[in-house]
Amino acid sequence: MAALIETEDLCRHYRSGAEMVRALDGVDLRIEAGSFVAAMGPSGSGKSTFLHIVGCLDRPTRGRYRLAGEDLAQASVDHLARIRSRRIGFVFQSFHLLPRADALTNVELPMIYAGLPRRIRRERAALALEKVGLGHRMGHRPNELSGGQQQRVAIARAIVNGPDLLLADEPTGALDTRTGEEIMALFQALHRAGTTILLVTHEPEIAAYASRLIRFRDGRVIEDRVQEPRRAVEVAP
Ligand code: ADP
Repeated sequence: MAALIETEDLCRHYRSGAEMVRALDGVDLRIEAGSFVAAMGPSGSGKSTFLHIVGCLDRPTRGRYRLAGEDLAQASVDHLARIRSRRIGFVFQSFHLLPRADALTNVELPMIYAGLPRRIRRERAALALEKVGLGHRMGHRPNELSGGQQQRVAIARAIVNGPDLLLADEPTGALDTRTGEEIMALFQALHRAGTTILLVTHEPEIAAYASRLIRFRDGRVIEDRVQEPRRAVEVAP
């Protein structure tokens, strides 16, 4: 498989007064297209910083970052924004949905930014909601949906532009165990359909659903192994 993500000596340093914080301190990683990777590590180990650079929300202080073969370590902010909207979908712990907009409109948002006409937006948003099992809830607003359903809407929004990469930052952190497992079943189904997923979590039970585990500590990768993923049970939402 081709490398979707490649980093070499990736560093992100922050100056904090007289001190230098090495949030990332020489990370060499290669992640193939079609992977399902979980990144773990204690708080402050550099997981979010890594996710932000991979997601083109931040740039490294030093080192290389290639996404689909393109070197982005020195890319302009505008170019990173274009790459983000074209290639990357994000899922967050707290869903980040627009409260006054219904599910369909929430899923349409990335296509509004991409300048697609309304008819195509509606069609694709409906299809994405069907993929996540919410075809029957398109007209519902976030406060009319359960936490698990809101996260499904957020996942539909993240995949609607057909991204190369799905990035998830603690996507089950606000959900109970059962609902968290349902969301992991959805990620596993998307992975089987070909989506590349990089997920940050501090819960070993959640990381167990991925096929590869990367562990960060003090801005470095201290463990990197493939694993037999635990199979999440799918339930109709
Ligand atoms: P994690 O996601 O594993 O909790 P982070 O990537 O958020 O870790 O942070 C790694 C280190 O970098 C921490 O010591 C954190 O305090 C520091 N850090 C993160 N962002 C900034 C920032 N904007 N300014 C200064 N230090 C930061």
